[in-house]
Amino acid sequence: MVKETSEGIVLRGAKMIATGAPYTHDFLIFSFHRLMNDYGKHAHALIVPADSAGLHIVCRESFADPREKEHILSSRYDEMDAVLLFDDVLVPWERVLLYGDAEAVWELRTNKTANALAFHQTVVRFAAKLEFVTGVAFAMAETIGVNGFLHIQEKLGELLTQIDTIKALLIASEIQAQPDEAGILVPKSTYLDTARSLGTRFYPRVIDILQQIGGGGFVQTPSSLAEFQGPIAHLLDLYFEGATVGAEKKVQLFKLAWDLIGSPLGARHELYERFYAGDPVRAFAGQYLSADKTLLTDPVWKLLKDVHD
Ligand SMILES: Cc1cc2nc3c(=O)[nH]c(=O)nc-3n(C[C@H](O)[C@H](O)[C@H](O)COP(=O)(O)OP(=O)(O)OC[C@H]3O[C@@H](n4cnc5c(N)ncnc54)[C@H](O)[C@@H]3O)c2cc1C
Repeated sequence: MVKETSEGIVLRGAKMIATGAPYTHDFLIFSFHRLMNDYGKHAHALIVPADSAGLHIVCRESFADPREKEHILSSRYDEMDAVLLFDDVLVPWERVLLYGDAEAVWELRTNKTANALAFHQTVVRFAAKLEFVTGVAFAMAETIGVNGFLHIQEKLGELLTQIDTIKALLIASEIQAQPDEAGILVPKSTYLDTARSLGTRFYPRVIDILQQIGGGGFVQTPSSLAEFQGPIAHLLDLYFEGATVGAEKKVQLFKLAWDLIGSPLGARHELYERFYAGDPVRAFAGQYLSADKTLLTDPVWKLLKDVHD
């Protein structure tokens, strides 16, 4: 809800997930969807300082784990998510970029250059993440000696096809980049949209594959790596030994893999890859809706015409 005053506008309400909110100085707030008809009066673009009176940042519980050796990823990479609550927050007029102008907000939101450049970095990020998780999968398969089985090789090969697919889309977007009216080279966005949509299906599949490779090995690890210096170290060295590496290295690897697939941080990452780019159902549907469909249907109608007329 928004109330106008002579000093600015007063906001009351809540904003959905804002990743990184506790570390930011300012929030850029505008509607993601096109607001039509009567709703248009709610379309604004605002820059709200994080320390505004009445603005509350409600964080989820932390997924960071201080045990660096056991949780290499959780100890370093938790990225906080939060919900913003606006309890009568005054946004001064000089921070109101657009006010009640649905078309201008939509123009800002769908700016081709801004979107393509932002989406390009998300696809670069995703390609790097796929390479890392595939590296973990390969190392696990070698370490427990299951990489000789055909169905494991098939799954490892599938991970490689994921990497190549995303990288190929990235390269295609760069090769077909075009300068915009300001001379900025803009990657072709349809390939980036496809990579982002595929990512919502690829990453859950990665987790599925890692689970199938590791099996019960993920939970057959001592609680702490310090056990390898303890009184039963000689037994752990014997019974936890890997096919290609010693026991301690194998346990380190499986703890890293568990951090990826089973820790709170790992679960959050899977959820993130499914939803960070918006609802995947609407993303796929959006690709259909915005495509030039005649490019594909014209040859079909032409074939029918050639044969039947
Ligand atoms: C870890 C994480 C971090 C995020 N960070 C940010 C961020 O920093 N900034 C930001 O703006 N957003 C962020 N998001 C939010 C993200 O954009 C949303 O989660 C996403 O847009 C989906 O919206 P939702 O969660 O409200 O799900 P909903 O829209 O409630 O959807 C839930 C399910 O219901 C289905 N559904 C919903 N509506 C309909 C309908 N009308 N018809 C049929 N099916 C429907 C959907 O397909 C989906 O399966 C983040 C999300 C996650 C998980």
